[in-house]
Amino acid sequence: MTDIEVPVLIVGGGGCGLSSSIFLSDLGVDHLLVERHVSTSNLPKAHYLNQRTMEVLRQHGVADDVYAQGAPMEKFGRIRWMTSLGGDGPLDGRTFFEIDGFGGGGLAEAYERDSACPSTNLPQLRLEPILRGHAERRAGPDRIRFSHELLELSHDPDGVTSVVAGPDGARITVRSRYVIAADGGKAVGPMLDVGMQGPTGLLDLVSMHFSADLSRWWDDRCLITFFLNPDGGGSGWGSGAMAQMGPTWGAHSEDFNVVFAFRPDDPARFDEDSIIPKVRDLLKLPDLDITCHKINHWIVEGVLAERYQVGRVLLGGDAAHRHPPTTGLGLNTAIQDAHNLAWKLAAVLNGQAPESLIDTYEPERRPVGARNVEWAMFTFLNHAVVDAAMGFLPGAPPEANHAIFTEFLSDTPMGATRRARFAEVATTQRVEFQAHDLELGFHYPAGALVADGSPPPPRDPMGGTYHPTTRPGHRLPHAWLVRDGALLSTHDLTGPGGRWVLITGPEPGWAEVASAGSGLDLHVVAVGSEYEDLDGTWARLREVPQSGAVLVRPDNHVAWRGAGPPDDPVAVLRAVLGTVLGGG
Ligand SMILES: Cc1cc2nc3c(=O)[nH]c(=O)nc-3n(C[C@H](O)[C@H](O)[C@H](O)COP(=O)(O)OP(=O)(O)OC[C@H]3O[C@@H](n4cnc5c(N)ncnc54)[C@H](O)[C@@H]3O)c2cc1C
Repeated sequence: MTDIEVPVLIVGGGGCGLSSSIFLSDLGVDHLLVERHVSTSNLPKAHYLNQRTMEVLRQHGVADDVYAQGAPMEKFGRIRWMTSLGGDGPLDGRTFFEIDGFGGGGLAEAYERDSACPSTNLPQLRLEPILRGHAERRAGPDRIRFSHELLELSHDPDGVTSVVAGPDGARITVRSRYVIAADGGKAVGPMLDVGMQGPTGLLDLVSMHFSADLSRWWDDRCLITFFLNPDGGGSGWGSGAMAQMGPTWGAHSEDFNVVFAFRPDDPARFDEDSIIPKVRDLLKLPDLDITCHKINHWIVEGVLAERYQVGRVLLGGDAAHRHPPTTGLGLNTAIQDAHNLAWKLAAVLNGQAPESLIDTYEPERRPVGARNVEWAMFTFLNHAVVDAAMGFLPGAPPEANHAIFTEFLSDTPMGATRRARFAEVATTQRVEFQAHDLELGFHYPAGALVADGSPPPPRDPMGGTYHPTTRPGHRLPHAWLVRDGALLSTHDLTGPGGRWVLITGPEPGWAEVASAGSGLDLHVVAVGSEYEDLDGTWARLREVPQSGAVLVRPDNHVAWRGAGPPDDPVAVLRAVLGTVLGGG
C-alpha cells in the first residue's frame, strides 16, 4: 500500500538535500524530504562557501541570510603557517608564511570582477538551520520530515517505491517518480550496489570542535592557521590545522575546529581525555580554558560513484563523491549538484521536456565530481610537500628538528635561503586557497546544450586564473547590467523559477523568439535597449556579434550561442530548445 505519492523523494537533509528542496519548491515541484536525524548537523563540518555556491543561493533568495551570519572577507581571506600560538621560547609564536585566500587581499580585484557574489564562511552547523528554515517555509506542511529514515528502496520503469521509518518506528511507503539520493552515501548507493571508485581509508583525521578565548593570539584576518613546530616532530602532535568557526568572526571567534592526522595504528587517537591536553600542547597555551563540544573521527578518502543515475534514482553530494576537505569542495559541489538537477526535474515533471533530459545530469556533473575528487586529493597531499619544504625530518630526534627551525628563523644567509625556499614551495598551496578557476571555470562538454565546435579557453593548471566565456556548457559570465536605474548581474536574469534567457543586442530581430519556448518561460533580454551594459563588460565577454544571441539555461549555464539574427529566429530557437531539452 502506498501512503504517500509525490513526484520527488529527497533522502537526506544535509546541504544537498535541503538545497534540493529549496530549488524544487521555487520551481514548483512538490516533493518530500526525509532525514534520519532529529535535527541538522551538530558538527561544524564544511564551512567555506565559494562564489559559485553563493551565486546559486543568491538566485534562490538564500544568500542574504547566509551572508548575515557568514564571515565577511576581511575576517577570513588569509591563511597562515605558525610554530604555535603561545609559548615564550625562541621558536614559539612565530608566523613563517601567509597567503591570501578565497578572494581576500590581493585576490579581491579578480574575484569581484568575475562574480556578483563574494565567497563566505559559515560552518554547516549554522548553515543547515538556515537552509532548513527556507526549505520548510517553501515546501508544503509536513514535507520536510526529520527523524525519518529510509529503510528500503526499489525502482521500476515508472517510479520508485521507498519504505521510510518515522520517529515512532511506523513504516511509511512512498511512491515517487524520482528519488534524489542526498544521503551522504549512507543508504541509497549501497542499496543499489553503486560502487565507489578510488582510494579510501587513507588517514584517520580527528577534529575537535571547541570554544576558547583566543583573541590575544588569533590573527583577525585568518580563517585557518596551520601549525608546524619542532617539538612534536614525528609524533603527530607537531602539526595540525585550526579554523575559526564564529559566530563572531575574526580574533573574537568563540568557536574553533582543530584537525589532526593520526596513524591508523596510533592508540592515542581514541583517547579523548588526552586530546584536550594535546591541543594545549600544540598551541603552547597550557592554561587555555577549553570547552570541548565534540571530538569526531573521519577517514580520508577520494571516491567517486561509478554511476550518478540508476534508473529514476539520482545521486548527489557526498553520495556521489567524497574527498578531503582541502579546497572546500564537498559541500559546494553538493549544492551545485542539486542546482543542476532541480531545473531538469522541474522541466520534466512540468511537462516541458522529455524524460531524457534527466539523463544529462550524470554526463554533466560526474566529470565535475571526478575533477573535484582528484583536486581535493592533490591539494591535501600538497601539504606534505609544503611541510617537507621546511626541511623537517619526520621521526628525527627533536634536537635535529630544533636545529632546522632555529636555522630557518635565524638572521643568517642560510636562514634567508630556507625561508625563501619555503615561501616558493608554500606558494604552491594556492591550489587550495586560490582555486578561482576550479570554482568558476568548470564546464559541461556534453549534456543539455548545443556545442558549437569552438575550443574551450585555456585552463590554468594551478586552478587560479579564470577565463569567462559564453561557450556552450560554461557558466554564464557575470557582467553588471542596468535596468530602470537598478543594477543587476547577468546571473539575476534567470531568477529562481526556471526561466530561460536569450541575451541579445539592441536590434529587434530576436524579439519574437519568446514564443519558441512553447510552454517554457523564455525571456529575451536586449542589452543596449531595455538593459544597459554598465561598463562594457558584457560587450567584452559575450563572444558573439552584437547582433547575435546567447541562450542561458535556468541554472545560468550557456545552452547555445549564435550569430544572427537568422531569417527565422523562432524556428532556430525551437530547434535549439528541442535539442537541449531532449538531452543535447
Ligand atoms: C567532520 C567532517 C568535517 C568536514 N569538513 C569539511 C570541510 O571543511 N570542507 C568541505 O568541503 N567538506 C567537509 N566535510 C564534508 C562535507 O561535510 C560534505 O561534503 C557535505 O556535508 C556533503 O553534503 P551532503 O548533503 O551531500 O551530505 P551530508 O551532509 O552527509 O548529508 C546527508 C544526510 O543524509 C542523512 N541520511 C543518511 N542516511 C539516511 C537515511 N537512510 N534516511 C534518511 N536520511 C539519511 C544523514 O543523516 C545526513 O544528514 C566534512 C565532513 C565531516 C564529517
